Amino acid sequence: MLQPQSRIEPIFDTDGVRNPLSVLKTVYGYSTFRGRQAEVVEQVVGGGDAVVLFPTGAGKSLCFQIPALCRDGIGIVVSPLIALMRDQVEALKQLGVKAAALNSSLSREEFADIRSAISAGKLDMLYVTPERIVTPGFRDMMGNAKISLFAIDEAHCVSQWGHDFRPEYRELGKLAEQYPGVPRMALTATADPHTREDIIERLGLGGAKVFTTSFDRANIAYEIVERDQPRQQLLRFLARHKGASGIVYCLSRAKVEETAEWLDKQGIRALPYHAGMERDQRDAHQDAFLKEEDLCLVATVAFGMGIDKPNVRYVAHLDLPGSVEAYYQETGRAGRDGLPSEVWMAYGMADVIQRGRMIDGGNSSPEIKRVERAKLNALLAICETPGCRRQAILAHFGEAHAGHCGNCDTCLKPVETWDGTEAAIKALAAIYRTGERFGAGHLIDVLLGNENERTQRFGHADMPVFGAGRDLPAKTWQSVYRQLLAAGLVRVDHEAFGALKLEPEEARAVFRKEREVKFRKDRPTKGKASRTSSPSAASAKASLDQADGELFEALRAKRMEIAKDLSVPPYVVFPDTTLVAMATERPTDEAEMLDISGIGQSKLERYGDAFLKVILQHSR
Ligand code: ADP
Ligand code: ZN
Repeated sequence: MLQPQSRIEPIFDTDGVRNPLSVLKTVYGYSTFRGRQAEVVEQVVGGGDAVVLFPTGAGKSLCFQIPALCRDGIGIVVSPLIALMRDQVEALKQLGVKAAALNSSLSREEFADIRSAISAGKLDMLYVTPERIVTPGFRDMMGNAKISLFAIDEAHCVSQWGHDFRPEYRELGKLAEQYPGVPRMALTATADPHTREDIIERLGLGGAKVFTTSFDRANIAYEIVERDQPRQQLLRFLARHKGASGIVYCLSRAKVEETAEWLDKQGIRALPYHAGMERDQRDAHQDAFLKEEDLCLVATVAFGMGIDKPNVRYVAHLDLPGSVEAYYQETGRAGRDGLPSEVWMAYGMADVIQRGRMIDGGNSSPEIKRVERAKLNALLAICETPGCRRQAILAHFGEAHAGHCGNCDTCLKPVETWDGTEAAIKALAAIYRTGERFGAGHLIDVLLGNENERTQRFGHADMPVFGAGRDLPAKTWQSVYRQLLAAGLVRVDHEAFGALKLEPEEARAVFRKEREVKFRKDRPTKGKASRTSSPSAASAKASLDQADGELFEALRAKRMEIAKDLSVPPYVVFPDTTLVAMATERPTDEAEMLDISGIGQSKLERYGDAFLKVILQHSR
């Protein structure tokens, strides 16, 4: 299973340490490091520890793979998901790197193979789960083999604060004592400061150099809409992404199943994924998503961590995520390849009630519940902001952004605001006068003066607020209550079945007109989409003229054929960006092929001829 090292040379400096830049070029086919990659590589090649906090798609993998290839010995990569190690190892093998993954699904022979490769010093990189690495069995297996570094991927799993807590990660703090002198790295795309502190503390990385970059994902377009016939809204969103891969997140397993089935009936290839499915089926659906190019995966949040499919073109949320952090992580799975991608969310008051009930109904401590409620409110504020979404998201992570990004719904189509002080006073008064015991639905009936059994029974029809809000339609009042929640003037009491209560101090300021209230105008939800230009199916292709586009399709077909033969995802052969470069630059021989970004020595040997043939067939 281990493949012979292909002819990779000359990548040694005079002192015997491989030169990072030559490795980048010969192995990966890239000519320059990106962002802070070079600094991280330098730190770790030199034997130092590093904490790497880069957003998804920034290129964290190279930060540990290159030092592992430059330094003597085996680079150990701790990764939480067995299913995904396989693809990463496969991708490395394609590059001519000798890599293997240790996991419980290995046969006896495979296990023995890896063992002997370790003792013969014939392995560059070994992927291991966190639970295995701390066992005596692992130590025994490594024997006297030299270890070049430990890379702890998805390091946020060490933090209880985050949403992917894995107790096994806590044990990784021991690596420092068990393997003194071996450089250690922790890598994550989690931007939240609390999680960062946890990583440094729990993994004993106090002495490590910390590398961060901006968390802006400039190629991702954000859109958040008010929910109104969500299936039709989703369909309109998906129409902009025909033939592309994407994820639709739902809160419950039942909704995942129903939505996938419904989409399939609408002619959109969709498969469900959630933790309640049979393992085999779940893995099969994940595999289909990775290998196919036009699949919509409908999933709960159980899906996504560690998925490194680069061409996920869209992420849709049919329900409100748990927090801004979760929203950022989930949407961040789009556009790893840096090409234009869209994320979209539909939300409404019902989400707020449901999320709140989940928080309050859980058995966490009052302190944790308070934090969770604050997290929910922070997300609501982003949903309701009339300003730039990107600016609001980054501000949540403590990063300043000038706004006006030009790539979010509020920037592309500025929302109007209106002076809502009078409306806010009426809405708050309706809560107060009815004793803070009712949800938004009933309060709106009171404001509109709708006589029904409930307004009669509770005597609300006789109150002065009854009918005081007839100047505005019910939809506007719904929006008003959502925005009062997002602004922290009102809260939901989940013990009282979703009744709205006043935040006394804030509400008082409004009653006294000491605080001005501005509301955003909701957009009409039907009719024209807010976005006219569509980052269509193969947005990689969008930039190409017709002839190049045809060649791109032919190259894509060749890639699919090879990927099917090897039973690997197409991007393991080449990413879209490499195909685009081939289609526009049209190399005619091996030397020109090597100039294409993403073609290194090993891939040239494997696929150079096959792709050159396709290019020659399409020569102009
Ligand atoms: P992350 O793990 O940070 O989400 P990846 O390591 O998966 O990001 O990298 C994202 C994509 O960017 C991959 O397709 C990778 O090959 C590519 N990439 C990384 N570094 C470079 C570079 N220096 N030049 C060109 N492409 C790069
Ligand atoms: Zn914006």
